[in-house]
Formats: sequence, C-alpha cells, structure tokens
Amino acid sequence: MAKIVLTADETLLSGYNGHVFLGFAACAPKLLPEWLYTKIFCPPLDKKSVRMTYAHCGQRKIEAALLANGCQEQDIAIVHPNKLQQVVDKQTKVIGVTTHDPLGLGPASTMFSSLVNKETYTALFFKKLMTHPVLQQHQFKVIVGGAGAWQLTDDRIMAKYGIDCVVVGEGEITAVDLIDKAMNGDTLPSFVQGEVVPLEQIPLIRYPTINGLIEICRGCGRGCRFCTPTMMNYRSQPLQNILQEAKVNVDAGNGVLFHAEDVLRYHTKRFIPNEEKVLRLFTEVKKLTDRISISHFTHASVASNPNLIAQISEELNIGSKNHPFMSGQAGIETGSVQLVIRHMKGKAKPFTPEEWPEMILHSHQILQDHLWVPVDTIIMGLPGESSKDVQKSIELVQNLSEFRSLIIPLFFVPIGALTEAHRFFRTKHMYAEHWQLLSACIRHSIKWARTMADENLTAVQMNWWKKAAIKQVLRIIDRRLHPYLQMMDEGINPQTQNT
Ligand code: SF4
Repeated sequence: MAKIVLTADETLLSGYNGHVFLGFAACAPKLLPEWLYTKIFCPPLDKKSVRMTYAHCGQRKIEAALLANGCQEQDIAIVHPNKLQQVVDKQTKVIGVTTHDPLGLGPASTMFSSLVNKETYTALFFKKLMTHPVLQQHQFKVIVGGAGAWQLTDDRIMAKYGIDCVVVGEGEITAVDLIDKAMNGDTLPSFVQGEVVPLEQIPLIRYPTINGLIEICRGCGRGCRFCTPTMMNYRSQPLQNILQEAKVNVDAGNGVLFHAEDVLRYHTKRFIPNEEKVLRLFTEVKKLTDRISISHFTHASVASNPNLIAQISEELNIGSKNHPFMSGQAGIETGSVQLVIRHMKGKAKPFTPEEWPEMILHSHQILQDHLWVPVDTIIMGLPGESSKDVQKSIELVQNLSEFRSLIIPLFFVPIGALTEAHRFFRTKHMYAEHWQLLSACIRHSIKWARTMADENLTAVQMNWWKKAAIKQVLRIIDRRLHPYLQMMDEGINPQTQNT
C-alpha cells in the first residue's frame, strides 16, 4: 500500500515490444478489440511485480523530485492500472496520473479518429483508468499532469472523471508542491500552470524507465506558433547527468533512448549542431551500451551538418545486423514556404523559409545515405492554409517517394500561440487537395512500412506470431484502403460515398 500512487493509462505503460514508434498505434481509432490491440501493440511490462520496474520517464522525474523533497520510498508506488487494487487503500492520499492524450484530441488522434468517427485507444484507455473501481472506493486527491493535461482544463470534464487538479507544464516543482498540499489535506486549485524548472533543479531519475528513455534536453526554443509555449525554455543536461541516468537503465537491462525535441541540437542554443558535444554524447553512452536510439530530430539540423549523421552512424554501426537502421521523429509539417514564414520560421533555421522544401529533400538524401529512416509529420489545416499551400505539400511528399520514411499526416490542433483564434481542424474542413495529400502520405507510408517489415522484422526480437500479425495487418490495410485511396486521389471525401 502507498500514500502516493503514480499511474497512467495502459497506452503509456508499455514498451511497445521495444519499438517506441509503434506507440503511434495508440492514436488510432478502435478498430481491433481492446484485448487484441493490447496483446499485439502495447503489452504491459512487469506482469509480476506490483511496482513498475520500468516506468514512464515523467513519472520517474516526479518520483525523484518527491524523494528529493523528503518523501519516503515506501510511500510512493508507480503502478500499472492492473495493479491499482494492490497499492490503493484508505491510507492513499494522492493519485497522480500522467497523460499524453486523454481525450484523443492530439494532432494524430484527431486526424485518425475523425476519419472513421471512433474514439482512439488513448481516450478509451484513459476513460478506463479514470473509471477504475478502485478509484471510486477511497477518498484521495486526483492530480493529473503530463503532455496531454491541456485537454482536461474544463470543469465538466474534471467533474466527470473526479479530477481535483490539472497541472499543465512542468511538474517537478509545482506537482510536488501540490502533492505536499494534498498529503496535508489542503484544498487544491483546479488548474495550475507548472513552473519552469531550472536545469539544476531537474532531478535525476533513480530507477529505470520504459525502453531506457532519458531526457537529454527539455524545451526547444525554435518557437513554432502551433507548439506549446513551454517549449520555449530550452535546457540541455550536462553529460555526466546523462551518463548517470543511462547507467541506471543499462544496469536494469535496458538500452538508452535519448529524448529531446532535436537530439542533434544537444548542448547548443544555436541552430547548427555542436558536432563535438553531440558526438561525445554518443561515444560516451556507447561505452555503456550499444543499444542507443533517439526520439526526435529536425531536418534543419541534419542538413546543416551532413557529416554529423555519417559520424553517428559509424559510431553506432548502423547497418549491422543488430542495428539495421536508425529512426527518429522529425517534422516536415508543410511544403508551403508562405506557411513556414507564417508559423515556423525558427524550425527552418539556419536555413531560410524559402529554402525549406529543398532542405527537406537534402536532409532525406543524407539520412537515406546513412540508413536513417525518419518518421515525418505533415500538418493539415494550419491557419491560413489555402489549397495552393496543400498542393505544395503534395508535391513535397511526391518528391520524397524514393526516400525510406514514414509520413504521418496530422490535423492542426489549436494550442500555443494559436489557441484563441483558431478551431480544431476536422474532415469537414478538408479541401479536395487535403484528401489527395492524405492519400499521398498513406500510400508512401504503407509502401515503406511493408518494405521495411519484410527487410527488418527478422532482426527484431519479437514472437513469430506478432511479426506475422504485423505483416498481415499491413497487408489488410493496404488491400482494404485501396478503393478509398482511389477516391481520395480524385479529391473525393470517401465518407460521402457508398462503398
Ligand atoms: S521545432 Fe518542434 S518542438 Fe520545437 S517549437 Fe517547433 S514544433 Fe515545437
């Protein structure tokens, strides 16, 4: 039993068979029954132990901050929802919930769910967690935070789910203070903006994380208008801190997954990578483990220092049996120069917005040459987007056809500087060109996903039946989507047709 219980919905507490990008599946609408989706894509870790051996990195940071604040280890439990009944009782004072997409309103979720008018797995599993019978049995405060907390800042939603307080932004100072108050029985405010945590106060994790994810930088500073404002405060962890967190993970049998908005911009606030610092990061961590992967990078960083990708690839022996390719998420967002100027000039730096489409192609060439496979995103419905802008995105996607990559289409979500004046983008707002763009992205991604599944699944440590199931799911998607894609190619909304 524990006084402070930290949990999250099931979609955040899986290792996704060691493949973090399969996590995108959680943003899909419910097409498979929940039990089958869980079995194939997000099996729970730690079936036996009550407290999670590997937890979400955000939970580990809050845990570390609580310990640094004087909490006792035995008072804190990080658990999977399946284990709540084993740690929650009348002594429990606080349930802390981490969430990324509680209502399915994120950019990928809104896109996928509005196509088929079904709830996403992220929303389904969040609902399942918040209506868990154990959460109804006892008196405690429920505090929700994490990257998707902004979706919950509505009194009716909070009341529906029995949430006492929502924290938007960083948590190591603010959430810990709120937990302290809840432990003392004080009333909590409904909504709190998390204080930005100075670098030296970001605590180091004490225990391992899922897939060995460690935060090497926080924030970004490129200032895209559709991004969350908290991204403006950019900080990089010193190498010795990273090595300490990497060791915690490696000692527990994990590899290391570097998380940053742009791993290639480690340790610089400028817009050209600091080659020496980035290479040192990889070489020093490689002394602990060969299994190094990354979460995000930017195409501008790749194109501004092509040699860096070559050197990292050599260091990590990319192309070998154990590491056949390197991947990471990177935003393309648009092929339109005028939209780059309007919304994301900083993302293009050190290049000009006018150089954006060429720079994207150049980056893909460099990545392809060194066996990197980007998971790209394209946003539909950015404010001010005309059909001509969409046409530019279509051209860019077509020009990328020979480059190994996945291109994930997203719907614009009004957050950041664009919150007030703009609405969520939905299928009813799509131009004919948006349908063509959607088709181009799906065709591109299925082509390369099938190719890479055929080439690489043999090297992946996964049950044979899961590999077969993934290949079969891709085959079925390809076949079933064919008539819909043909309609989209003509700019027709397939939702309006009888098929
Ligand atoms: S580059 Fe990415 S993380 Fe940085 S501000 Fe733009 S969208 Fe946000």
